[in-house]
Amino acid sequence: SELTLGRLAEESWGRFDDFDAVYYEGVWHRGHALAERARKVCGGLAEAGVRPGDRVVVMMANSPEVGLIYQAIWAAGAVVTPVVFLVGAEELRHILVDSGATAVVTSPELVETVRATDVQVPIFVDTEELERAAERGPVERDATDLAALMYTGGTTGLAKGVMLSHRGLWQVAKDAYEMSHQEGKNRAIVPVPLSHAYGLILTVAGMHATEPQQAVLMRWFDPKAFLELSAAQRAQFGAVVPAMLQMLLAEPLESHPLPDLAFLTCGAAPLGRETLEEFERRMPGVQILEGYGMTETSAVTTFNPPGRRRIGSVGLPLPGYTITIRDSSGDKAEPGDVGEICVSGDSLMLGYWGEQATDSADTALTGDELRTGDLGCVDDDGYLYVVDRKKDLIIRGGFNVFPRDVEDALNEHPDVVISGVVGRPDPRVGEEVVAFVQLKPGATVTADELMTWARDRVGRVKYPREVMFVDSIPVTSVLKLDRKALRSRLG
Ligand code: ATP
Ligand code: MG
Repeated sequence: SELTLGRLAEESWGRFDDFDAVYYEGVWHRGHALAERARKVCGGLAEAGVRPGDRVVVMMANSPEVGLIYQAIWAAGAVVTPVVFLVGAEELRHILVDSGATAVVTSPELVETVRATDVQVPIFVDTEELERAAERGPVERDATDLAALMYTGGTTGLAKGVMLSHRGLWQVAKDAYEMSHQEGKNRAIVPVPLSHAYGLILTVAGMHATEPQQAVLMRWFDPKAFLELSAAQRAQFGAVVPAMLQMLLAEPLESHPLPDLAFLTCGAAPLGRETLEEFERRMPGVQILEGYGMTETSAVTTFNPPGRRRIGSVGLPLPGYTITIRDSSGDKAEPGDVGEICVSGDSLMLGYWGEQATDSADTALTGDELRTGDLGCVDDDGYLYVVDRKKDLIIRGGFNVFPRDVEDALNEHPDVVISGVVGRPDPRVGEEVVAFVQLKPGATVTADELMTWARDRVGRVKYPREVMFVDSIPVTSVLKLDRKALRSRLG
């Protein structure tokens, strides 16, 4: 029968011989030791009454325990519900109530947040208590059963519960691994949260891999630590988001060469062409391979394979996915025309969890196709270009303004660290283009000068009529530009 993630974990435990699998805070953890602990935690969960199909919330920063807890939950036949450790009690409460979780696994410094939700649910602190149980292997499940109930980034509204199957996660992990893997490059630096779809799929890919994978885990991204750790542990590839590359550009990269590092996958938010090119220029030998994905597609939808990448594009669909661009009436758009990105294939989510998410979603399953809520176009060779989110589109005087175009233009200015563009309701033109800008320390550029700079690049219709300087541009817990927060600052 088809593989479930529990069985996959068991197979990978069998292959995990005596080698260093995970590095964390100064220590390499052996593969067989992690496997043994996973089997114990599986036993511990079963003894604690966790049954197949139950949702188990895992709220932890990256650590070697996260991966083994996921494996233990799958082996117990239960459903992984990861939560980014940075969320507050209110957001966590929404997830606990919405998912109907039967247990929470967390770490000592987060217990207070879990208690503050007032939700009555057994809390396990780390794995100590669970590891006191007898070892247990995987229970029978179907490949189409629920493996993860993952909450979306919450970038556009309340996080939505996405139901992902064993088959979907496993297929995407396998395809993404095969599309990205370079022979002999098996040691990864992992600063992205394992609790996000991006990090979860890396975990599953590690279980599938044909060569033993080694992960150098970071609790949380820090540019200096990233450079030092990658060099010291000789990372050969890694996984980042655009904001991390941006923060790295503020470091003296030239004095931190990373001769072992061959490539970094990058996704989860728009990556400016400038950022990619500057990074590669200043860090010779490292290739940035951009991909595009979302929780609803089991994390990855498209990827730029090494050797066949197109800068500016988010790459080619994974073999299991087909992309169709649709115009506003739902018809197939002409090649090159911008429309809504729609995805079909076997690894899509089973659906949203709960009525409310389904009703309010700008992203939706219609029949066997997912309307992503993202706008983009496909070139003649099938490469996808993401333009913006449909929800963020500004309509000014009847013209479409994609905030990202304006942001890219502003971000090119040498005095600008980063910008965020939103629409302000306006009686005359419908919506006015407003830019929030974070300047480099000591920069002297004025708002008027930036408006002129932007006008020269995006034209008279789209340039911002208002530029506001801010100390920092708000980002979400997975470092995405938070336009929702910017809109609320408009007053
Ligand atoms: P929510 O759905 O709760 O508002 P979210 O959409 O940010 O949050 P995720 O599922 O983590 O939650 O993110 C998927 C979205 O991230 C995509 O729909 C797309 O808008 C954006 N995205 C991902 N990769 C890229 C990329 N390479 N370029 C541009 N946007 C990207
Ligand atoms: Mg979304």
